Amino acid sequence: MSLVIMKFGGSSLANADKIKHVAERIIVKKKDGNKVVAVVSAPGDTTDDLIKMVDKIACNPPVREVDMLLATGEMVSISLLAMAIDAMGEEVISMTGPQAGILANEDYTRARIKKINPQKINDQLAKDNIVIVAGFQALNPRGDVTTLGRGGSDLTAVALAVALKSDLCEIYSDVEGVYTADPRVVKDARKIDYISYDEMLEMAGSGSQVLQSRSVEVAKKFNVVIHSKSTFSESEGTIITSEEKIKEKKMESFLLSGISFDKSQVKFTISVFDASGIVTEIFSRCSEVGINIDMLDQSVLNKSNTISFIVNRSDMKKTQEELDKMTLDFKASVSCNEHIAKISIIGVGVKSHSVVAAKMFKILHKSGIDVNMVSISEIKISCIISESDVLKAVEELHKGFGLSKKRVDLD
Ligand code: ASP
Ligand code: MG
Repeated sequence: MSLVIMKFGGSSLANADKIKHVAERIIVKKKDGNKVVAVVSAPGDTTDDLIKMVDKIACNPPVREVDMLLATGEMVSISLLAMAIDAMGEEVISMTGPQAGILANEDYTRARIKKINPQKINDQLAKDNIVIVAGFQALNPRGDVTTLGRGGSDLTAVALAVALKSDLCEIYSDVEGVYTADPRVVKDARKIDYISYDEMLEMAGSGSQVLQSRSVEVAKKFNVVIHSKSTFSESEGTIITSEEKIKEKKMESFLLSGISFDKSQVKFTISVFDASGIVTEIFSRCSEVGINIDMLDQSVLNKSNTISFIVNRSDMKKTQEELDKMTLDFKASVSCNEHIAKISIIGVGVKSHSVVAAKMFKILHKSGIDVNMVSISEIKISCIISESDVLKAVEELHKGFGLSKKRVDLD
């Protein structure tokens, strides 16, 4: 008998019918001869709605109380789902994160899981009960409930897979799995059958929102195989596992996995006559206030220096403030372009095939799309382009690299 962790996202639990449907899926899994621990998110947009309520009440609320509030969303799901399963005649028990023995540190609203005491869950599984656990929440050393950061239910599911020594973690949502590109943008985007942890991390970090990044990092560290599936269909979904396992089993080994894009960034440009020390100053100021610099580029033209760098839109105001403090000292002028986007091509083939970059630029050039900045890492090439070009770029690259086909020809 194996132990399966099944995690259901908020859109799978958005109303009574959906909750009943999830209950049925869990029962089918149980009747197939498995022990089941189900992890759930808050129903529908509950977490967003709770955050909106906070904004109407306080601009600087105590973080302890924010967590107290946000943790209620998942409690709605666990109790209703347990009632649905009970009504269908199966033995079931719901648990909050703290009741399930999930312990975290004191970073309210973005706590990190430190330890899981699986005793309570194991006792219930031994009694042949289905266990429903609230995702996204844990108990901190002060005895308070804390939350694990947005999308944190995925992390709860993977962490439970580690603690309960289950080697399969199924993550159900309203999409069929991971695609070669956003299917809303590219009509013939193909569902990927297997993808490595690293590729998945790059897909997630580049704006593709199937799984929370942290959960993939933990899965990679502890070798948990994640199976991303649709709640509403029986299709096979996408398996996220190690590159070695994919190769070992001679599963399809794609050189390129997919294309992702991200519009949540802005570009700052600083023009200055004497640039000595300025890059160091930018980096140290940004790191002091917790701003992540994504790409940086420095060029000199007629003795005038231009330094451009990319930060997340949510850090725009803070970055502007830091740069304003520097401008006088350096006699620099600063501008900010909000209308940019990052487009990335991701795949293990990037590291061994230099033609990927050449081909990417050729496709963009042919489509009349200017490339502003470039960064190349082991398995990803990212270009900064104008925001108005991004949808065209995704389509053209997807077509140009033939990603809708099962095998990608790089020549
Ligand atoms: N309900 C939480 C959120 O919306 C956690 C999750 O869905 O994973 O972020
Ligand atoms: Mg989610």
